[in-house]
This record gives sequence, C-alpha cells and structure tokens, in this order.
Amino acid sequence: MASSRPEHTLIVGAGIIGICCAYYLARRGHRVTVVEAEDLAARASQGNAGSIAPGHEPINKPGRTLQALRWMFSSKSPLYVAPRPDPALARWLWTFRRYCTEAHLHRAMTLLGPLGHRSAELFEALRDEQLACHYRTGGYYAVFRTEAGLRHARADAALLPALGYRPECFDAAAMRDREPALGEVAGGVFYPESSWCDPELFVRNLAAAVVRHGGELHTHRRANRLAMCNERVTGVHTDGGMIAADLVLLATGAQTPELLQPTRLRLPLQPAKGYHRDYAHGPGVPRLHAPCILGESYVFCTPLPNRLRLAGTLEFSGFNLHVRHERLEQLSAAAREYYRDVHLPAPASEWVGQRPCLPDGLPAVGPVRQHPGLAVATGHAMMGLTLGPVTGELVANMVLGEPLRVDVGALDPNRF
Ligand SMILES: Cc1cc2nc3c(=O)[nH]c(=O)nc-3n(C[C@H](O)[C@H](O)[C@H](O)COP(=O)(O)OP(=O)(O)OC[C@H]3O[C@@H](n4cnc5c(N)ncnc54)[C@H](O)[C@@H]3O)c2cc1C
Repeated sequence: MASSRPEHTLIVGAGIIGICCAYYLARRGHRVTVVEAEDLAARASQGNAGSIAPGHEPINKPGRTLQALRWMFSSKSPLYVAPRPDPALARWLWTFRRYCTEAHLHRAMTLLGPLGHRSAELFEALRDEQLACHYRTGGYYAVFRTEAGLRHARADAALLPALGYRPECFDAAAMRDREPALGEVAGGVFYPESSWCDPELFVRNLAAAVVRHGGELHTHRRANRLAMCNERVTGVHTDGGMIAADLVLLATGAQTPELLQPTRLRLPLQPAKGYHRDYAHGPGVPRLHAPCILGESYVFCTPLPNRLRLAGTLEFSGFNLHVRHERLEQLSAAAREYYRDVHLPAPASEWVGQRPCLPDGLPAVGPVRQHPGLAVATGHAMMGLTLGPVTGELVANMVLGEPLRVDVGALDPNRF
C-alpha cells in the first residue's frame, strides 16, 4: 500500500467501510485513527437493508441498459434519473453501459464470489466481539409475482453453484409455506448463505471494538482537505487541526470526490439514493421469518427486532439528501402488492442514504498511484455491508504488507 510499511493510518469516514478497515488494522496492533464528520454510521451505513448477501451480482448486467432506459425517467420505477444537465452523470451512465456485458459480469462474479465467502466467514468470526447487532443467519428469499421475473432470477441463480453458492428455487406453494405472509406470487429463489443484521448497531458496536483494540476515534470532526507535500499526502486538515499520518485512507462513501478534488485521481463516483421505511411490528405489518427481496420492485424487507424495514429504490439525483416522497411511498406499495392483509400504520422511521457507485459496479480499494500516502476504500454500491469485513481485511493486509487472498487488480482505484 505504501513504499515503506506505514506506522500510523488515518481513516476518514466512520461508515461500515471505514470502521471495518479500522477494526482489522487495530486488531493487529497497528496504530489507527478514525475521523468522522458526523456521528458513527451517519450516512449510507445507517439505514440500509441490513442484508449480508454474498454472491450478490453487481448492478451492471447484460440487458440492464435497456431496462434502465425504460425505467429511467419515471419517478415511480425502481431506478430513477432526475432529468437535469449533469455531464459527470452522463459520462457515468455511458461508462456504466459499457460494463453491462456477459464478459464483465463473469469477471466481476469471479472476484465477488470468493470475496463474499470470505466476508461471510469474517462475519461469523465477529461473533467473538459480541457485537449485539441482531446478527442472524438463515438466508434470504427473492420472490416474484411474474413468471418472467422468476425465470430471470432462476437463470441468474444458475450461475452461482460454480462459485460455491447453493441457491434453491421454490414454486408459489413452497414459497408461501416458508413465508405465510406472502400473497399471490409466482415463486422465489432462496439464498441460504446470506445473513442479516441491524447495520447501524453493527457499525456502532464494531467502532467500540476498534477502541478496545487501541484505535482512536473522533466523531463530529470533519476532514476539510488533504495535507500534501508535493504529491505525497501527509495527513488531513480537520475542524480540530491537522492530523499527520503515514497513510490516509478515504472511506468517505458517496462524498469521496470532495476530498479527492486537489488530487490527480478522478474517481467517477456517483451517489445512488435509496430510502427506507420502518414499521413497528403489529397487526397489518407482515411478519417475516427471513429477509425477502420483492423481486420486480427491488424492495428489500428485513425483519429487525421491533420492526420491519422496507428498503430500496435507486435514484440518481446528485449529491444531496433531498427526499422524494413518491419513492418512499413505493416501498409501502410494494409490501401491499406482495403480502396478504397489509394495513400499514404510520412509519416508525423514514430515511434516505446514498450508495457510492462506480460505473463498473465494483468497489475501489487500494493505494492511489499518483499520490504516495493516500488510499481509498469506497464504491461498494449495494454491497457495503456484505463486503465490509472482507474490505477491512484486504486493506489491513495491504497496509501491513501481508498476502492478499484474491486478485484485487479489478478493485484498483486507478482503473478508470
Ligand atoms: C436503501 C439502501 C439499502 C442498502 N442495503 C444494503 C444491504 O442490504 N446490504 C449491503 O451490503 N449494502 C446495502 N446498501 C449499501 C450500503 O449501505 C453501502 O454500500 C455502505 O453503507 C457504504 O459504506 P461506506 O462506509 O462506504 O459509506 P458511508 O456509510 O456513507 O460512510 C461514509 C462516512 O464518511 C463520513 N465522511 C464523509 N466525508 C467526510 C469528511 N470530509 N470528513 C469526515 N468524515 C466524512 C460520512 O459522514 C460517513 O459517515 C444499501 C444502501 C442503501 C442506500
């Protein structure tokens, strides 16, 4: 990661990725400091669906461009692009299109398959830290109301056994047997290797473990700009003064381009907004045994201890947290379509977050070639929780000069 092994790593951002990186470094005795502009898990990591779904494919898939074009300008479809002149987004969409091929999907899955297995192992090992984040194993279902949706899902699932995953296909009756709350559906696919948790609690409790292992954590302290000496990054100027470090790791999610501004790395990152609505368990709120993605609507339903979380939708509308009410409404509408006897009360909470998305659907993890002393770990799109621990382990191995378990060339931040 650096020409000589760094003694002190400064991580900017205390979301899932920053805290996982800090954890695997601190646990191995490395000096690590985390600065976070807001609170722990303030952004995308706070309210996501909580699904740990190894073997999940990237957003780029053959046929996705046409599908996206059909959906794009309707604010009620799963994917929405707010119409406005935005050259960076136009370039992003153009590049995204180039990666919607069989060859790219194969290359991405060859990498994501093993990373997912390793992350699942690491989540199991994290039980030792007693994270109290409602971590549960038991898989998730993808359910479909249409035969066409089910057919596509089965075709996608057929690719997974080669990567060591064992999806199971169910017809409508078998699906309702497993999840009696479901209404009229065509069937579903079960992904047994998946698990779930409360993502905010995961970050908060793992952050406490970072401190237990000797890491330093500063919340409500924004990193305003990188400290640079020629091309080398030597630390970060924060609200509370300059912090020097041998290595600065940007784990700043969708906000990463801000701090990269003065550098020579142009990471084509776009924020993809998503929403959640939580409903307290009670009459009229579907009771689920395991998480479930409502296939055609791309809405994820996750049973958490006191509530059901509905999360999803993908919206490209710039670097802001403006809430579109109709998109929140889509979440509840999907629940009414797929489940029986749904009478939803007022939501217990509503939330918006931004996934950091790169146009090839893969994260960027590693050193920034043009700037010694600088590295990034971002771009996890829909997979930040799923790939959090394995990203943390990879970064720790890179920093400490230990062997990497996978060929990480495809994650190189300099690849664009
Ligand atoms: C609706 C929705 C559902 C999702 N569901 C899932 C799911 O089920 N499973 C899954 O694996 N993934 C899911 N994701 C994706 C996942 O949430 C993200 O990939 C992940 O949270 C990204 O984590 P991060 O740490 O990179 O970014 P963030 O969580 O955004 O963290 C970045 C942190 O950096 C801080 N920061 C930024 N700039 C600065 C600065 N200048 N100085 C100091 N701090 C700064 C921010 O305040 C923030 O806390 C979902 C996302 C959404 C929106």
